[in-house]
Amino acid sequence: MNFRKLKIYEGRDIDDVRQLAGLSERDRAAMKAVAAVLPFRVNDHVLEELIDWDAVPDDPIYQLTFPQPGMLAPGDLQRMMGLMSAGASPAQIRAAAREIQMRLNPHPAGQMELNVPRLDGQPLRGMQHKYRETVLFFPAQGQTCHAYCTYCFRWPQFVGLDDEMKFASREAETLLAYLRAHPEVTNVLFTGGDPLLMKTAVLRRYIEPLLRARLPHLVSIRIGTKAPAYWPHRFVTDADADDLLRLFEEIRAAGMHIALMAHFSHPRELEPPIAEEAVRRIRSTGAVVRCQAPLIRHVNDDPTAWATMWAAQVRLGAVPYYMFVERDTGARGYFEVPLARAAEIFRVAYRSVSGLARTVRGPSMSATPGKVLIHGVARVGSQQAFVLQMLQARDPEWVGRPFFAAYDPAATWFDQLRPLAGDDEFFFERELQAMKRERRSRDLARRSLPVFGVPPLPHAAVS
Ligand SMILES: *Cc1c(COP(=O)(O)O)cnc(C)c1O
Repeated sequence: MNFRKLKIYEGRDIDDVRQLAGLSERDRAAMKAVAAVLPFRVNDHVLEELIDWDAVPDDPIYQLTFPQPGMLAPGDLQRMMGLMSAGASPAQIRAAAREIQMRLNPHPAGQMELNVPRLDGQPLRGMQHKYRETVLFFPAQGQTCHAYCTYCFRWPQFVGLDDEMKFASREAETLLAYLRAHPEVTNVLFTGGDPLLMKTAVLRRYIEPLLRARLPHLVSIRIGTKAPAYWPHRFVTDADADDLLRLFEEIRAAGMHIALMAHFSHPRELEPPIAEEAVRRIRSTGAVVRCQAPLIRHVNDDPTAWATMWAAQVRLGAVPYYMFVERDTGARGYFEVPLARAAEIFRVAYRSVSGLARTVRGPSMSATPGKVLIHGVARVGSQQAFVLQMLQARDPEWVGRPFFAAYDPAATWFDQLRPLAGDDEFFFERELQAMKRERRSRDLARRSLPVFGVPPLPHAAVS
């Protein structure tokens, strides 16, 4: 397969996208208005291999990547279009966009207050530590993507809303120091943006110190990425693709597991031969590809899309991992799916695939207390209820305890759910309120629950 250079189109390049030539003036103006408020970026692979232009605007990948008029409230859309057609200055347009952005809940799920880890009392920017076993690391150079998803929950960092939102870290040493101080951490997840936007040489600066340190408690390095979908060339034909694969092999040789947490939103993304080749090459290093995505109206709110995607992943040797619920931020009004419908879509898709694809869990909400799984709907006594369970939690003791919420066919997010009639509050509510008052999670290192099962480093790695 031939080398291809990543060519990117953003808001100011909308007129250069030749596939949009047939768009009416009004539709083009609306697209530019939305792109002034929310992030927009596509590349040639998305334009030429993934979008079915005959099916636009309903095409799922078009909905996934191109700004849609429904993503803004009608009044906000009119206002932005009015400003732009009246020739408002860039400063005026930016100010109006800011004002709209601030109303789109840019800081959901207590990320800013509750997830920031500390070392010697100092908050560490560029890292999050919400669940005991796993630290999230946001390398400074990996905070954009090969293309942006319209529903992105990290959208604020791509519109320069708030420098704090970038969570960016330049310091591999800080990560290492934090890990040394936290033997309960078994996983590091490099995330972004997309860490694989970085050149391999830059990624090495973050990962090699972890390999040299040979921390006995570090089991897995994960990389969250949408590159296999948006830019599979990263693993196949990019100049440093082979070096990236070598880095994965080095992680394994150091006695660790390497997992690519691949974001696939739709089975179409797996169809181009180069995407298949990318997964094959990643797997040839011994890395495991685990697949996750949110359930999004207009993109994949259909059981067939999920069942087809999971089967395609299994066929390639990848592992279906999570179906998420669209988060309560950004253009959620356009993309959200009621929890009741999400549970039904999951169930219909789940029951139609083999057990090998049923490694997937969901629908799961990354809410303030934790990752809340919706098991389904059941009758409890005389009440209709959602059956819920935390897959991850701010307090490890909350994990795996089934609990109930009153059934609500319209609810789209955890904060809209209420306990069953007769219950005052959810079981974790009091402790969560205490965490919020103290503006931090409990000291995860001091939890009484032991971390079991961390294997010793294999001989090959200790040499
Ligand atoms: C999902 C998630 C993790 C990883 O959870 P696993 O269940 O181990 O995959 C870690 N940190 C945060 C903040 C997460 O949302």
